[in-house]
Amino acid sequence: MSRKTLANIDLKALHENLDILISLAQGSKIVAVVKANAYGNGAVEVARSIESKVDVLAVAFLEEALELSTAGITKPILILQGPHEEGEFEQKSQTPLIWMLHSEWQLKAYQKHLQNNAAFSQRNNAWLKFDSGMHRLGLPLNQLQDLLTSYKAIVNSNTVLVTHLANADEPRQGDAIAQIDRFLSTAQKANLPLCIANSAGNIRFAQARQDYVRLGIAMYGSTPFQANDNPIDLQAVMSLESSIMSLRTIPKGDAVGYGSTWRAARESKIATVALGYADGYPRHAPTSTPAWCNGRRIPLVGRVSMDMLTFDVTDLEEVAVGDSVQLWGKDLAINDVAEHIGTIGYELMTRISQRVPRRYLPEA
Ligand SMILES: *Cc1c(COP(=O)(O)O)cnc(C)c1O
Repeated sequence: MSRKTLANIDLKALHENLDILISLAQGSKIVAVVKANAYGNGAVEVARSIESKVDVLAVAFLEEALELSTAGITKPILILQGPHEEGEFEQKSQTPLIWMLHSEWQLKAYQKHLQNNAAFSQRNNAWLKFDSGMHRLGLPLNQLQDLLTSYKAIVNSNTVLVTHLANADEPRQGDAIAQIDRFLSTAQKANLPLCIANSAGNIRFAQARQDYVRLGIAMYGSTPFQANDNPIDLQAVMSLESSIMSLRTIPKGDAVGYGSTWRAARESKIATVALGYADGYPRHAPTSTPAWCNGRRIPLVGRVSMDMLTFDVTDLEEVAVGDSVQLWGKDLAINDVAEHIGTIGYELMTRISQRVPRRYLPEA
């Protein structure tokens, strides 16, 4: 008998979400973001499954791109952070690479490689990232024209000018609209393809849907919006599941778990579930964080351990060792769980660790 803990990854739901987002994008080309192991869903499996439907795949850094290339992915791979050091341009990836250049040293280094190596330009392209207000990465927007002139050796008709929105998922829309306008008023003059939207931008702002959109979290069935502020219906791709490995009844007044942080206010039935913070479930999840068991929500009680969680199942009519427990997924929205834990669906999904097996449900 082995541990029943696993993440079910529903590839049919992934495709149905992607279809909805593609139709929302209204003809924009699609960059599918598969960084961070496809947000925990498995980069190679996700990329393989969707590559024929999208134009570009995106990862954060070179090693993530090489993993896909080695696995036989052929769609161009956009490296969102560009190179961290110049030597990365020496990589001989089978798959075409697109480097997002955000700093002037990267422009210089890229230009030098183009000049010194004729083969380089056949397998590599560059997109240019501009800072239109997020102030995290990007070339200065007010130098856009000058940079395109100084580095014209880099620029061709496939060079995309990119920016990233700081507030596309915030309830108040004015800040995102102002940022989109600021970028467009400068970038449109260059007559090159543009890319602004992430998932939230694609869902909410027509002006952010330019030649390309970048889709991440929404493909995986979570949205960047708050639960009560959710403009579209998506299906959970990841369902994180485990099972009850032990059950006991404790008297009123007894405590559960490390530090005895939770005490039973009545005689209580406690279920121990085979998953813990080493699997990526956050240790700081508080008492009353929900899970799903036998058709009902059950509250977490006591501290999260390395390999185990404890839930109060007193209110379940039937419960037995071996019963399945869903931590989030089809029956319990990840954003709902995230809200209890004081985080977002992105963080819960990306942190599920390697020791949790992924089981892939077929595309059709
Ligand atoms: C991760 C990332 C995205 C995807 O964002 P979502 O909110 O998951 O859609 C888009 N663009 C950049 C630059 C990113 O780093």
